[in-house]
Amino acid sequence: TIDVATSRNPATDELIATYAFQTADEVEGMLAGNNTAFRLWRATPMSKRVEAYRRLSAILRERSENLAGIITAEMGKTLAAARAEVEKCAATIDWIATNGPAILADEPVSVENDDQVHVSYLPIGSILAVMPWNFPLWQVIRASGPIMLSGNGFILKHAPNVMGSAYALQDAYESAGFPKGLFANLIADNETVAEVIEDDRIAAVTLTGSMRAGSAVSAIAGKALKKSLLELGGSDAFIVLADANIDLAVKAGVEARFQNAGQVCLAAKRFILEKPIAEEFTQKFIAAVRLLNVGDPLDPQNRIGPMARKDLRDELHHQVERTLAAGATLLLGGNKIAGPGNFYEPTVLGEVGPGMAAFDEETFGPVAAITIADDVEHAIELANTSDYGLGGNLWTSDVSRAQRIARRLETGGVFINGFSATNASIPVGGVKKSGYGRELSHFGLREFTNAQAVWAK
Ligand code: NDP
Repeated sequence: TIDVATSRNPATDELIATYAFQTADEVEGMLAGNNTAFRLWRATPMSKRVEAYRRLSAILRERSENLAGIITAEMGKTLAAARAEVEKCAATIDWIATNGPAILADEPVSVENDDQVHVSYLPIGSILAVMPWNFPLWQVIRASGPIMLSGNGFILKHAPNVMGSAYALQDAYESAGFPKGLFANLIADNETVAEVIEDDRIAAVTLTGSMRAGSAVSAIAGKALKKSLLELGGSDAFIVLADANIDLAVKAGVEARFQNAGQVCLAAKRFILEKPIAEEFTQKFIAAVRLLNVGDPLDPQNRIGPMARKDLRDELHHQVERTLAAGATLLLGGNKIAGPGNFYEPTVLGEVGPGMAAFDEETFGPVAAITIADDVEHAIELANTSDYGLGGNLWTSDVSRAQRIARRLETGGVFINGFSATNASIPVGGVKKSGYGRELSHFGLREFTNAQAVWAK
């Protein structure tokens, strides 16, 4: 059995560190400590909580170079992307500090008589967060920022390959003056995680990761009668209609698919092109992808680093092979890059359709799948032919038509003439097998609160 979490540099294969799993006593101490800190934090006035948030964003910015270095070493994104991730975390903590108190303030409700009614948003306890490695800081801040402002405790079960990031965040929270133990790390196997979910001190669970992980964790939470929030990735369509600005769509499409070496839940994965512009878009897209430099993520010349783990690269390559075997055409790339590190060639597949791996499954790496649609109705139908429903992208010069089409796309978000992104003030989450619940915005701030109705006669 594995009883350590291992962090290995995906660009070089070098071992960075190992972290021993916590013993049963350590897990108990962590849970007790988090619960004590929660009681203290719940009683801390909102103005003091906001001050801690302000200190946290300042600390993240002060430590940006160090934090970005840890992210790049542990999961391989370019240093420029890692710096941007840290800044996004700081900006989001600032947004929450500025806007959160009003969103969580008591909300008066008018009733027909003179009764005084209001809704209070109260904390519910310690929230367990099971998080992935693709944005080792951002995914955690996106969860913890909204969850903790209302007064909850936060326990992070991070992915085993990014424990350096997990501890760096814990240190940032502690340095910012949050009560010790309020942001705590759990390093353990899945069995222990299950026991923690069942523990009475855990109020709810939030998870970002695969369908498999989401299904396992939410089943345990459901059995224990605990709320869960799931963000399970997607297979976003990038629809380009005949009247779109092709050059802008190509530029956005390349970034939408290949950022973070394609390891993004909201990345564009299925390019659905209306017939009249399909050939032009495809040729320009291939030409642009060919220009992407792959290599050492510390070298500013490179746009694409390695994939985070070797097994994930193997899995992606297998998806490419299965898609080709099912009749797709290889337009670019399609191979692992030899040598150390988990590099994969930026890949473009043509003639992809339902029934093929790159269409039906989430491709979590630098692989774009192109499908041609007869017309706009066919494009909408293809986009909705997916188990997933996270985001979607729609390119057309007629924005009001796009807004009407958006209502027919079965996704948690639709991005018109742009590409899927997150923003502190905008909710993010999915439908279908992309999960349920919303993070960020006023939805995220209230997800893990007790909306308590107070009715005075
Ligand atoms: P996982 O979903 O397995 O990992 C994400 C997190 O879930 C990790 O912390 C993992 O910890 C944890 N986890 C998984 N199973 C359980 C369980 N039964 N109980 C408790 N915790 C669990 O993703 P992988 O890293 O294996 O990546 C596989 C695929 O998942 C990707 O190719 C991609 O398609 C998708 N994915 C989507 C992400 C997104 O942003 N939505 C992010 C990452 C992956 P542990 O490793 O210790 O089990």
